[in-house]
Order: sequence, then structure tokens, then C-alpha cells
Amino acid sequence: MNYDFDLFVIGAGSGGVRAARFAAGFGAKVAVAESRYLGGTCVNVGCVPKKLLVYGAHFAEDFEQAHGFGWTLGEAQFDWPTLIANKNREIERLNGIYRNLLVSSGVKLLEGHARFVDAHHVEVDGQRYSAERVLIATGGWPQIPDIPGREHAITSNEAFFLEQLPKRVLVVGGGYIAVEFAGIFHGLGAQTTLLYRRELFLRGFDGSVRKHLAEELTKRGLDLQFNADIARIDKQADGSLLATLKDGRTLSADCIFYATGRRPMLDNLGLENTGVALNKDGFIQVDEQFQTSDPSILALGDVIGRVQLTPVALAEGMAVARRLFKPEQYRPVDYQHIPTAVFSLPNIGTVGLSEEQAREQGHDVQVFESRFRPMKLTLTECQERTLMKLVVDAKTDKVLGCHMVGPDAGEIVQGLAVALKAGATKQLFDETIGVHPTAAEEFVTMRTPVDR
Ligand code: FAD
Ligand code: NDP
Repeated sequence: MNYDFDLFVIGAGSGGVRAARFAAGFGAKVAVAESRYLGGTCVNVGCVPKKLLVYGAHFAEDFEQAHGFGWTLGEAQFDWPTLIANKNREIERLNGIYRNLLVSSGVKLLEGHARFVDAHHVEVDGQRYSAERVLIATGGWPQIPDIPGREHAITSNEAFFLEQLPKRVLVVGGGYIAVEFAGIFHGLGAQTTLLYRRELFLRGFDGSVRKHLAEELTKRGLDLQFNADIARIDKQADGSLLATLKDGRTLSADCIFYATGRRPMLDNLGLENTGVALNKDGFIQVDEQFQTSDPSILALGDVIGRVQLTPVALAEGMAVARRLFKPEQYRPVDYQHIPTAVFSLPNIGTVGLSEEQAREQGHDVQVFESRFRPMKLTLTECQERTLMKLVVDAKTDKVLGCHMVGPDAGEIVQGLAVALKAGATKQLFDETIGVHPTAAEEFVTMRTPVDR
């Protein structure tokens, strides 16, 4: 049978663009449909604008610390609309780059909502296209729990476009987005409270990291409330919001920001016209080659709910393009040793196993830990401390995990990820010469294991 396309990609986000571009580069006839914004979540309402706002928030502490180095500054003034307008301009520039990338690699770009008619046919704005294979790369969408007054809350999608910086913000959740946005709002001057439903936020991260970050954020004046959750939200006559917590307490705010996880984006996708099955959490079920239960349909990225990170979606996109159109170059995606950063202030950088995971997996665990005041702060009043931690298997001497809370942790952990992927031992870390004077050198100078 003759199809219009070899591959029809739904969604021009991180994973979809990568798969489409490389498939076209390998000689396939490819179309990509995008209903909202080129570059997807990461470029428009995710990694990129978030990091720009984090940079913006960071200036507050730079100004404060400048005194210790002899600088006298006038009173610092912050203007949210300027930051947002400049951020928007940068995102528009990136949208253009994505358009050029797709078009110049020979991909047919269809701007509109795509919907399955059947397993080989997709409709975009009333126009029907046939394809030998269809790739679902539709990403995710924020979800707010079903509580009375949820319509008064916002998510990350709206936060990037607020007209003014709210004076008082309640952030709900204890994952990446909650912690990062609490840092942004707090750093830019909003009175910020983070509410998390359990004992300690960032579940799944190393225990020392979670505790250390909680202490550092508290030192900075961020109000962390654990074992706290909102039962209802009411709008007050003056336009402010009143949150009633499950324990009966009430908190007033101008903005309530929910970061309580993301669901797969399957709205009006027409999946019922295909044989695609979902897993128990509602994400698209795929095998290790991103094949859904319908033979002609694949899926990757956030919509499969594995690891919701841009570089992972990129790796999955690459794997799909190679497997279908350049099988001699195919390599499966390695889900071990995925480095990741939480761009809180200070950052978390982490790769490999947490101490808890290493113990659960039966390793004979040795822990090396260092806490210190970064050199840059020695001339300032700031009492922030950096944490570095290595989790090592005592039997094989292999380094299982590297964890850091401190300035530039996201930058530092990338190189460590290469070492872990190469199977580095603690002895190899010890024999590596440090870069002096840096914080990063601490990772190669920790000699005495912690006595647990
Ligand atoms: P997406 O990038 O979401 O792309 C999906 C695309 O499909 C969208 O453009 C959407 O409009 C389109 N689409 C959906 N349905 C249809 C349809 N029916 N027809 C046509 N088009 C459709 N990851 C990191 O690695 N680092 C970070 O710092 C980071 N920060 C983040 C911050 C925030 C606030 C958020 C929300 C996410 C962040 N992430 C980060 C996660 C990262 O953005 C995602 O993992 C990544 O974008 C997933 O890529 P994807 O290709 O699966 O989906
Ligand atoms: P996460 O899944 O990371 O965290 C969700 C948080 O919300 C958890 O603390 C969870 O608590 C809590 N929660 C879930 N449901 C409820 C509920 N009904 N009521 C109260 N609290 C609830 O999701 P995010 O939205 O923060 O981010 C989504 C994903 O995007 C991340 O997992 C990450 O993969 C990606 N991302 C990556 C970033 C980066 O790389 N820097 C930055 C931002 C996002 P509990 O622990 O109890 O389950």
C-alpha cells in the first residue's frame, strides 16, 4: 500500500522533533503535526523559560553578597513584566529555530491538532493523511487534584505568563516543579510558602539531599510546611484567595500554584480508533522499542510516563528514528545513570543511586559525605552550606551515586555522569586530580567513609 508518509509524528516537542528530523535525515518521508507551540513543553512552558526565571531570581543573592566584595549598590528594583517580556522574546526566537530545523531537514510541518481516524490515518484540521507508522509524542499536561475551588489555582503553564508577580504565593507539591518555582517566587521577592502532603519533599531523591535542601531553603526564609495539604480554596471579596488545609488551618494568598504531577496529553487524540493500550497509570503502554500495542503506532517522551526529562525524550526520539530507518546505528536507550538537576536555589545535581536505593538493591554501601561553606561566601554574611555525597559499593569499589546540593550542582553532575557510565571506582575518583580552588574538587578528595 502507498502511504502519504513513512512516519507521521504527532507533537513537535523534544522527542517528536528529534525523531522527525533524524528520520527525515535517514531518507524517510516524514510529517509532524503541532497544535500549540514548536519545541513543545521544554521550550515554551518548561526547562527553558524556567531556567531564565531561575537566573532572574538568583540576582537577589548576588546583590546581597556583593557588599562583602566591596561593592555598594543602590536599592535593587525588580520588574516582573520586563523579565516576562524578555523571556517571551527569547522563546519566540527559539520557536523560529525549531521551525527552520524541521523545514530544512525536509519534514512536512502541519500546524494543527492531530487526531487518529484509524491506525494508519490521521486528520489535521479536516485534512486526512495516511502513514505507514505514526509516532505519538504529545507530552504531558499539569494536573490539579479535584478539590473545591481548584479553578482559582494556577499551574506552571499560567505562571510563565502572569502579568504581575504575586505578593503572597502558596506552592503545592513536593516535586521538581514545586521546588523550582518556590525558589523563583521567593527569590524574586514574593512571600512564599511551599505545602507538601508528606514528611519531606523530593521523594525518590537521596535522603541527605532532601534534608539538606530543606534546611537551606528554610535558612533563606522560604516557609516550608510538610504534612500539609489544601482541602478547599475560596475567593475572598478583595480578590485574594483563602486556602483551608486538611488540618483545618487557613492561609491567605494572592496566588495558589499547583505542581502536583503531570498527566499524559491524550485529549481528543482519537486513541479509541486505534489498538493503543494505556498502562495502569493512564500513560501509553510501550515495549522497550517504543512500540504500542497497535503494530503501526509508536510512542515516546512524557506521554509514556517513564522518565519525564527532555534529554530522555531526545534519546528516545533518536532510538526510534534509528530503529526504523537506520537499524545498523540502533542502540537501545540506557535508563541507568540519567543525571538530573533540580534548579532550586541552591541547585540539586544527582546521578546514579541514592543511598536508600543502593541499600534496597542489596549493595554493601559505603557513604562519603562532605558539607562545607563555599569559598565565595567566606567574605559574606551568607551561611549557606554545600553538600556533596558519594554512594559506593564496598565490595566492588564502584561509585553507585553522586549527589550535590550547592551552586552549579547541575553543571558539575554532568561530568560525573560520564564517570559513572564508564563504571568508575572510588579509587579512580581518588586518583583523579582536582581543579583547585573549586567546589567540584571535593568529589575527588573525600577519603573517609561516614560511620552509619
Ligand atoms: P512535549 O515537549 O510536551 O511536546 C509535546 C507536543 O505535542 C506539544 O508541543 C503539544 O502541543 C503537542 N501536541 C499534543 N497533542 C497534540 C495533538 N493531538 N496534535 C498535535 N500536537 C499535539 N526537563 C528537563 O530535562 N529539564 C528541565 O529543567 C525541565 N524543566 C521543566 C519545567 C517545567 C515547568 C515542566 C512542565 C517540564 C520540565 N521538564 C524539564 C520536562 C520536559 O519539559 C519534558 O520532559 C519534555 O518536554 C517532554 O518532551 P515530549 O516530546 O515528550 O513532549
Ligand atoms: P512530580 O511528579 O515530580 O511531583 C509531583 C508532586 O506533587 C509530588 O511531590 C507529589 O507528592 C505531589 N502530589 C501528587 N499528587 C498530589 C495530590 N493529589 N495532592 C497533593 N500533592 C500531590 O511532578 P512535577 O509536577 O513537579 O513535575 C513533573 C515532571 O517534570 C517531573 O517529575 C520531572 O520529570 C519533570 N521536570 C523536570 C525538571 C528538571 O529536570 N529540572 C523540572 C521540572 C519538571 P508525593 O511525593 O506524595 O507523590
